[in-house]
Formats: sequence, C-alpha cells, structure tokens
Amino acid sequence: MSSYIHEFESKVKPKDYYDKVYEELSKVNSRLNAFNVIIKPEQDGVPLSIKDNICVKGVESTASSKILRGYIPPFNATVVDRIFKTKRFSFLGKTNMDEFGFGSFGINCSKPARNPLDEDRVAGGSSSGAAIATALLKYHVAIAESTGGSISSPAAFCGVIGFTPTYSVISRYGLIDYANSLDKIGVMARSADDIRIMLDITKGKDPRDPTSTNTKITDLHHKKLVVIDELLDKVDDKIMSQFNMFIDKLKGLGYTVENISLKEIELSIPAYYLIAMAEASTNLAKFTGFKYGFKAEDFSKPYNDFFTEAREEFGTEAKRRIILGTFIRSASVRDKYYSKSLIIRGELIDRLSKILKDAFIISPTMPILPPKISEADSMSPVQNYAADILTIPANLCGLPHISFPYSYSGSLPLSAQIVGSQFNDYGVISFASEWEKNFKYKFKYNIGEI
Ligand code: GLN
Repeated sequence: MSSYIHEFESKVKPKDYYDKVYEELSKVNSRLNAFNVIIKPEQDGVPLSIKDNICVKGVESTASSKILRGYIPPFNATVVDRIFKTKRFSFLGKTNMDEFGFGSFGINCSKPARNPLDEDRVAGGSSSGAAIATALLKYHVAIAESTGGSISSPAAFCGVIGFTPTYSVISRYGLIDYANSLDKIGVMARSADDIRIMLDITKGKDPRDPTSTNTKITDLHHKKLVVIDELLDKVDDKIMSQFNMFIDKLKGLGYTVENISLKEIELSIPAYYLIAMAEASTNLAKFTGFKYGFKAEDFSKPYNDFFTEAREEFGTEAKRRIILGTFIRSASVRDKYYSKSLIIRGELIDRLSKILKDAFIISPTMPILPPKISEADSMSPVQNYAADILTIPANLCGLPHISFPYSYSGSLPLSAQIVGSQFNDYGVISFASEWEKNFKYKFKYNIGEI
C-alpha cells in the first residue's frame, strides 16, 4: 500500500495509541526540536503537524519568533479549517522553523532543529520541524510552507517527500506572511499518494484569499526531463556523481534527458532575495509590541525607545531583512533593485514556461549535503543564500515542485527535485509516485508504528 493515510485508517489502534505517540515524540523532541508545541490528540485520526507560521485557533502560533510569544490566534487558517472539517486527522502540534521563514537550515530560531539521521547536522529549513516530524512518525502528514525552498530543502535533508504547489492553489489566509507574492503552503509526507490526498483536501478558491484560484490542476506525465547546466555547476562533486547515476536509472525507465544552458537562471537568487526582503520588511512592520504577541509595557517611554524595545525581540536575520528590505524599497534605489528584480522574475517565468510545455525540469534538491550545525552557524549570509540556488527558480516563478530521496550517502539521503509547468501539480506528484515504486525509502524512526 502506498498511502500511509489509508493504511492508518484501516488499522485498529491500541487504546493508548496517542498517549504512546505523544510520550515518544516528546522524548525525541527534547533533543531534535521538531515541535514548538506538542498536543496530545483529542480525536481519532492520522497525526498531523502544522508549521508554526500557520494559524490554529487557540494554539500559540509564533513563526518561531520571540516577538510573537504568547500570540494565540482567534481563528484557523483556511488550510487548517479544510483539513479539520474532514475529521480524518488528529492535530499533533506546531512545528519549529527558521524565524518567519528566514533561512535554509533551521538554525535561525531559539532552538536549532537537528537532523534525525545525524543529530550534529542541520535538518534544512525553514520548515525544519515539518521534515523532522515526517522522518520520525510512521503515520503522519505535515503542513508546511515555502517562499524560496523551505519545503524542498528540509524534505531533502531529512529524506522525506516535500511538495510545493503552484502559487495560488492553496489559500494563504491565516499564514503569517513572509513575502506575499512568493509564499505557498504545501505538504510533506512519506508517500506521494498522501500528498495527493492532502492537495485534494486543501486546494481551491477561498474568498478570504483573493489570490487563490480554482484553476484546473493537470496531471501531465512528461517523459522528457530537462537539466539546466548552470544549476548543476553549483552542485558538490560527490552529489553530482550519484545524481548522474540516478539520471541513468531514469533513462532505463523510459525517460529522455536533455541538457540545456540558461545563463539567466543565476539571476534568480538576487532577484528572489530582493523581492523577498522588500516584502518581508513591510510584513514585519505590524509587529510593534502593541497588537500581536510580545507587549511592550512601559508607555511612558519616548516613541523611539518604546518601539526599539519591542523590535529588539527580532532575531539577527529578521533585523537584517528589515534593514535591507526597507532600503530596497526606498525611492532613490527602488528602480535599480526592486523593479529590476520584477523584470527578471517575469523573464524567467517566460523562459521556464516554454521549457516546461512538454517536460519536467530535474536537478538535485540541494547543492550540498546537510552541513554540521556548527558549520552552518559560521556561514556568511551570502553563503546561506547561495545554498538555495536549486530551489529558488521554481519558487520565484510560482511553479509546482516536489523533492524526494533517490539514494543515500551513508546515512544521509540524496534527494532530487522535479519542477512542472504552472498548475501541473498532479503531474509532479505522479512523477514522485512512479519513482517510489522503484526505490525503497529508509526510515530510521517509525514512531507510532502499529
Ligand atoms: N532560504 C530562503 C529564505 O531565507 C527560503 C526560505 C523559505 O522558503 N521560507 O528566504
């Protein structure tokens, strides 16, 4: 059976099932920091985790930021409402992440996330907790979010499947925004079929998110795969030799593989970070110590001191993005940076859409193996941003993509990413589903096995 959701639903659970899952998970969590809040499920159903930047009514939702400590949303995000309405899932808690989604390694938060396959290493980010939870629990799905690669990166590093839909397919209402024109809510799971089930439940127009849509989602199975040479130039040699073997396997399964050159793809990193920071700096302006979460208490202070005290709660990366984002939007440089980035995004959408008319784009998901936490800590911001080169193009262009493991290097997974044309979301899921039949995934943990 390839759906863990269906398998779980067909099994008889021991009476103390959820107590045991809760207990075991809490124990591992104290080392790995997958969850910010763990909740003992109150109803029968498949264990479900939700990234901490997606609002769940009555449960602290902080996006792993100190400035949102104590923020308890009075409403559910649309995606949460749609899932809860099915009564097929039991909510297990809010997963850890890089603060507000700012990061690729899960270390820009108060409790750095650890990779369950090698605890000295990072779990990827920003949806680190979602990936760890998926790697820990036998029966479970994770609702996560990606702006520039936050689903693919941790899914790849933790050896699970991570799906990011076409921009606008899943409502963003109730998401604590990072960058509105880039954010996508998506899913992580242990099987592609489970991802399909979750997409069916969560997709579609929501009157509360004007960018959401009912556009028909296709399931086109292309047999042509395109490799963009400039992307592979950035990949670690050890990963490349394994990836080439994977490509040979795919050829054996009837796929054709074409290498192309697309120089402009390298502009996707600067264009993405300029747009993302500009949008982030406006989104973070609402966190002032008044309305949400952290409350500054001394109202007798001068204006600047009052807001400085509240905004001191932001972490280093958030502060960096507020400063750079505000600069990028300022009148004197707006055309030079922000407007140019929008032009680059438009141009890339055109180029990639042409390539994807009759093909998928394939690459490794990450250019490096998960670094040690200490190594990631000492990387410069630019080195950090460069690690996103393979995940950013699809995210910048709002294209559906899926990351899945294709091999292992020792205990660490090696993962590939398939990108599809706009609204061919089922197509990329089907690709991962086909691959699953040819490859045995290894899971070190199986918490909740029945
Ligand atoms: N690493 C990228 C960033 O920091 C992407 C993170 C994300 O998708 N939220 O912006």
